[in-house]
Amino acid sequence: MERIELLRGDWPSYKANLHCHTTCSDGRLTPQQVKDHYKAHGYSVIAFTDHNVLVDHSDLNDPDFLALTGIEVDTDSFVYGRKYEFNQTCHLCAIARDPAAAVPVYRAESYTPEAIAAKVEEFHQNGYIVNYNHPAWSCESGEEFLHYGNYDGMEIYNYSAEVATNNGCSQNEYALALRLLRRPIRCIAADDNHEGRNCEDDSCGGWVVFKAPELSYRTIIESYDRMQFYASTGPEIHQCCIEDGVLKLDCSPVRRIHIMAQGINPMLCEYSDACQLTHAELRLDSIRPDTRYLWVQITDGAGRKAWMNPWFLPGK
Ligand SMILES: [Zn+2]
Ligand SMILES: [Zn+2]
Repeated sequence: MERIELLRGDWPSYKANLHCHTTCSDGRLTPQQVKDHYKAHGYSVIAFTDHNVLVDHSDLNDPDFLALTGIEVDTDSFVYGRKYEFNQTCHLCAIARDPAAAVPVYRAESYTPEAIAAKVEEFHQNGYIVNYNHPAWSCESGEEFLHYGNYDGMEIYNYSAEVATNNGCSQNEYALALRLLRRPIRCIAADDNHEGRNCEDDSCGGWVVFKAPELSYRTIIESYDRMQFYASTGPEIHQCCIEDGVLKLDCSPVRRIHIMAQGINPMLCEYSDACQLTHAELRLDSIRPDTRYLWVQITDGAGRKAWMNPWFLPGK
């Protein structure tokens, strides 16, 4: 029996916010207050990604909480000369693979795809994971983010942008990148919380859930690399695998389950008026032979979504 684990149901779940601000930049809460707030809401992992400053918060670690060392760098078209009539910006969250070895790397020198792609490469060479943030909020399009190099992940959902400017969902931008870049891009939902910017509370609205054998810096980074996590604004995904040529999904009760590929038509679309769908299966021999990847998405009765990472079929 051949089995490919897309999301391991036999490993514990660790809820994480991979994009967070504190009093180290323009957030309202101290790092300790952020930890306390998120732990009280069931989180195990926070990537501290203050603006343009790298701070190691390993002192916050305890057996049930892990602080990831990160930084958010911004390169702004307004600062470097307007490209268009309106301002645009590129924000990257970089997370150190080894906090003890993290070397500070700062923003790109100019708002050009070449400079930003070089910055992504510089982060990689210095041992960082790079997530490309909130494209809808940034007013960026494929003209920009298709040319930003080999970033590892992209925010499909940013809760702070949703409450502050009503454009937190970047599903269209993410789908475009996946379709045209033809490589796995990790699918990230995050808060980008500042806790108090003349809008409602922007914490605990978008997250990822890691599956890992235990909670440690190494195992969480490995789960990121192996895409053993999903992104969510509400629903839970319990497990997902390919078993004997059938994709199998188990989740919390939802209204819709979609499995999309690179084209218009879903590979699978199921719904329940009573919002009681908890399982779906898709036979791989039933899909078009030119399918490059399968991308599972679920939607609950309140319209909240969860997204698996895309699974690229072998050889595609
Ligand atoms: Zn940002
Ligand atoms: Zn931010």
